[in-house]
Amino acid sequence: MSSFHLLGGEMHAEAVPLASIAAAVGTPAYVYSAGALRHAAQLFRAALGKVPRKQLMFAVKANPSPAVLRVLADQNFGADIVSGGELDCALSAGITANHIVYSGVGKTAPELIAALDAGIGRFNLELEREGQLLSALASQRGRRAPALLRINPDVDASTHAKITTGRLDSKFGIPIDDALAMYDRLAALPGLDLHGLAVHIGSQIIDLAPLEAAYRKIGDLIRALRQKGHRVYHVDLGGGLGVSYRPGLPSANVEAYGAMVAEVTRDWDATLLFEPGRFIAAEAGILLTRVLWVKPGSRHPFVVVDAAMNDLARPAMYDAWHEFAAVRPTGEKFVANIVGPICESGDTFAREREMDRVQEGDLAMFQTAGAYGASMASTYNCRAIAPEVLVDDNRYATVSERMAAHQVRRQRLAPWMDDGAPSTRAA
Ligand code: PLP
Repeated sequence: MSSFHLLGGEMHAEAVPLASIAAAVGTPAYVYSAGALRHAAQLFRAALGKVPRKQLMFAVKANPSPAVLRVLADQNFGADIVSGGELDCALSAGITANHIVYSGVGKTAPELIAALDAGIGRFNLELEREGQLLSALASQRGRRAPALLRINPDVDASTHAKITTGRLDSKFGIPIDDALAMYDRLAALPGLDLHGLAVHIGSQIIDLAPLEAAYRKIGDLIRALRQKGHRVYHVDLGGGLGVSYRPGLPSANVEAYGAMVAEVTRDWDATLLFEPGRFIAAEAGILLTRVLWVKPGSRHPFVVVDAAMNDLARPAMYDAWHEFAAVRPTGEKFVANIVGPICESGDTFAREREMDRVQEGDLAMFQTAGAYGASMASTYNCRAIAPEVLVDDNRYATVSERMAAHQVRRQRLAPWMDDGAPSTRAA
């Protein structure tokens, strides 16, 4: 049974009515299910049962809520981070530093220093200059930074162009043909303990063939590196498994993924790292919203909700589909467009979609919003960032408050500007 389900005609998160949460924190609001997070984490780990040595790291970018990270830490998930801010989120959630891997193409020196000082488990290097900088920073501290080299295998993940990362024309990783020579040079640097490879070719991947092709290329590279006498004992296979956003479309088959990984890596003799984000968190969250108006349209009405593209950017950014459902469905359906209040036509969640008939004032929800939802929110149109609520069985707690007005309006006048009312100009 899904963690978001009808009980007595009313949508609940686990055992908590969504209407109670809306009454307590208002709308729009993100609601996460701890049970669904645990379930996905356990499913992922079980699928990798035949992989003897592994570490699972949740991709914090998918959902950096410390409460979410804590639920996953309790499932023995570490963290894959891409910024100093995410390092803070992971540490504040209680994830131990050596269970953190730092990916990302533009790490700054202060960010590298903070991660070194925290003692994180691994840095995934994206370019040679970064390796040189990390070597210098670690040497200054009398340390050796544990590092993997992120490889760009030149494999198209067959996913949305904006979340494809493994083709040579993308900014990520070291072109695979340059990897041997670069590994030679980086392995010789002081202050750097280069001991493996990383690869991540994209997100929302359903067809496993591109992942397998990338991993096989990594296998060839491991053998070539070892022939040259290099140590390769950790390999980070990234994240990327997709979920079903739309009824009738499949999720990635996680059991088949586990079997494929076990087969491809059987003679690698390395500890494997995994960085799933979406697969763990997407289905564990919804965005709760209220219908403001049902406005007549030329062909179909516009359901104007109080959530917008600043709360959930995926439809505007990737033309993504999120199921929309009434919190108290009547069983009646209609065809409508779903839009938010932002002054952009792109602030559209759905066009001409058959959906639960809703009316002004009704509560509704966008489903499968637990990954890349709240984490991508902005204050566009000076809108406050929505609160986040974690449900665990019959308990719930606000784990992130709605942004206060003074936080939204953090800009100020320049000091030389008169802070009184602008003078009336003569016409
Ligand atoms: N690892 C890296 C390096 C990433 O860039 C990403 C996201 O694109 C992930 C892991 C998580 O991907 P996903 O949420 O698709 O599992």
